[in-house]
Amino acid sequence: MNASEGIPPVEPPASPPAPTECAACKEWRWPTKLPGTHSGQYIDQWGQEGSGNVCILHLRDANKNIGEMNFAIARKKAAKDWDFSGAFFAGDIGFSGELNDANFSGATFSAAAYFNSATFKDTAKFIGLAKSRDTEWKPSERQVSLDFSHVTLEKPELIRFADMEMTAVSLVETDVRKVDFMDDLDWPVQLRDETTEEGIRSPAQVERLYRQLRHNLEENKNFPDAGQFYYGEMQMRRKQMRWPQWPLLWPEKSHWLRRNVFSMPAIYYWSSGYGQRPVWALGWILLLLMGLSGANMVAGLHLDGDYPKELFSGPPLIDWMWGGAAWPSRVELQMAAHDFGFALLHTIQVATFSRIRWYLPINAGWGETINLLTVLLLPLLAALFVLAVRRRFKR
Ligand SMILES: [Zn+2]
Repeated sequence: MNASEGIPPVEPPASPPAPTECAACKEWRWPTKLPGTHSGQYIDQWGQEGSGNVCILHLRDANKNIGEMNFAIARKKAAKDWDFSGAFFAGDIGFSGELNDANFSGATFSAAAYFNSATFKDTAKFIGLAKSRDTEWKPSERQVSLDFSHVTLEKPELIRFADMEMTAVSLVETDVRKVDFMDDLDWPVQLRDETTEEGIRSPAQVERLYRQLRHNLEENKNFPDAGQFYYGEMQMRRKQMRWPQWPLLWPEKSHWLRRNVFSMPAIYYWSSGYGQRPVWALGWILLLLMGLSGANMVAGLHLDGDYPKELFSGPPLIDWMWGGAAWPSRVELQMAAHDFGFALLHTIQVATFSRIRWYLPINAGWGETINLLTVLLLPLLAALFVLAVRRRFKR
């Protein structure tokens, strides 16, 4: 009857083809699922590789379209969705304002990320971040550049950093006392706030940061990293030292002496690295033993008359005459080494307050001065050494 007769009935189009959702957005349970406009591989929550249609944010491509990526980020921001788990960021990105339920777990930051001056209202996860990943998605470069300075944390105990390297993370002026820093973090010897931002961060700011981190890690019984932050804290404190203003106005340059020589932090630093470097203390002990024994040889020692000589193989007199014109012969050197051995034993006897002393000084004035130095310095350094070792192995 009508024109369509004879023509098989046209099936009504079964709903327009729905834009496929990103497989990774579903996998990571992002509140806002972005359209899977690209096809490629992505990383799932267990670090395994999946493939399918992925959104621009999950697409693994360092040369992705930055404009498209930023548009997707803006879309999520507008939806107040701060879940960026498993995302792959190309180029610098910034987050400001208020963030809720932020999640950057498993994300890849190929360039810098700026969170400075942002406010985290509740949780935030920075777990397993990487700068780049190998073909099996394992981090090949873990030094992610994060500017987390001047950040406000409303519930700091809900902010977690785990399984990442902290070398390029700036934390200054963010109250990190209660932040959840997991034990698997790799902390550098010097934080980024101390090194690269020289001049921008004041030593006082960095000192405060180190102190907060130390308290935080001590609370969590992570003593090795806490000790490292104590070292940084003391370094920053020493950097700020000045002579007292009264009674003289010191020239600016002379404060260097205060920082490096004439202050307790300076002495504590050089002797044992603020109790964190036992090897330094040990080095000083060996150096002083050698130096003081040499001084004893030069000042001269003679065998104590009361000592039974038939039991003793040492020289009756140790007195090193130096400054001879001729180069000492092999025999003379051997004798000097033999004498030095006994001078060393004498120094150790003095240092350990031993009741047995085989030798007495020839020159009472010099001898007593050397003994006093020995008694003052060596036990002190030995104590510092023991304390530093204990700190190292404290649990
Ligand atoms: Zn996605």
